[in-house]
Amino acid sequence: MTTSRPIRASIDLAALRHNFAVARRLAGAAKIWAVIKADAYGHGQFQVAQALYDLTDGYALLETETAVALRERGHRQPILLLEGFFAPEDIAALVHFDLTPTLHHHTQLDMLAAAPKRPISACIKLNTGMNRLGFRPQEVGAVRQRLQELGIHRLTLMNHFAEADTSVGIREPLLRVQQLRASDAGAGLPVSLANSAALIRYPESRGGAEDWVRPGIMLYGGSPFSDTTAAAIGLQPVMTLASRLIGIQTLQVGERVGYGGTFQTEKPMRIGIVACGYADGYPRHAPTGTPIAVAGVATRTLGRVSMDMLAVDLGDIPQAKVGSPVTLWGVGEGGTVDADAVAAAAGTISYELFCAVAPRVPRQWQGA
Ligand SMILES: *Cc1c(COP(=O)(O)O)cnc(C)c1O
Repeated sequence: MTTSRPIRASIDLAALRHNFAVARRLAGAAKIWAVIKADAYGHGQFQVAQALYDLTDGYALLETETAVALRERGHRQPILLLEGFFAPEDIAALVHFDLTPTLHHHTQLDMLAAAPKRPISACIKLNTGMNRLGFRPQEVGAVRQRLQELGIHRLTLMNHFAEADTSVGIREPLLRVQQLRASDAGAGLPVSLANSAALIRYPESRGGAEDWVRPGIMLYGGSPFSDTTAAAIGLQPVMTLASRLIGIQTLQVGERVGYGGTFQTEKPMRIGIVACGYADGYPRHAPTGTPIAVAGVATRTLGRVSMDMLAVDLGDIPQAKVGSPVTLWGVGEGGTVDADAVAAAAGTISYELFCAVAPRVPRQWQGA
């Protein structure tokens, strides 16, 4: 749906493909599951899958229904289900559509054992310290044996790093994987370890030609690190959230702006009102000073973000008028704004900004 209200999310599929090429170079011989969960981090799962069709080795996502829809659209690559399957009724689709579930709990093995036909490939999830999903290293031998008895032989060992993006790194969890692979229980199993952060920072997590990496955020041009920009990694922004000024106010000294009046002028100033608020997915916690751009000039937000609007400082932008273009993040007519910088100002990460763009914001795809 397009609307006359001027807010838009534009998705640059050429930038997505550029970022995929960066991941491909980093991955070396390893194969790539392009992570397109959460509607491709808000970028449109089917458009993104289509744009990566001739590039990627596989897709990783959550819902069996989405995986089936990809198959019906002609995607033949392996599809990894990151949380596996949830109910016995899911198993027939796994078999029929050749989907690869993540197996992380004995309950799933019981469901498989009771099924008339079983999936032919799977990932065994290893808990290497995140304590979210997965089997302990000492359980893997028995899990593998049970799967083999069920006729499930095409297995990959998978984990997820809790701190690949921080200074703590991956040494401890990687050691657990290596120890397991050096034992009978893990011998000969291909692995899938690296998310974006590990892929970028830890070559030792990538693996070889039998192994898989799982980049997500980097494909969408976000940095997984708080201390390194996406540009420094060679990534291009994919999503641009853009709108326009719909009002201008000229304020005297001591006047206040927005709900709670949290911003107060110290000199006379011109402010702009942007058609974008938290109901569009813009973070309500973004404080005064969050980066934004108007009419090609970098500036800052003022006061509290409201449901449908926010205020910007037009002090250095005398040419700004009602209708002037605004970039909330990305690269637009309004200027260039780093989504990671907006996220940092709001105390969150670009992942959340991208995923939170609301259904009422029309999305447009370019560069296919
Ligand atoms: C989301 C997810 C990824 C991708 O992580 P990024 O930080 O976006 O690269 C990889 N693996 C698993 C298991 C995930 O849930």
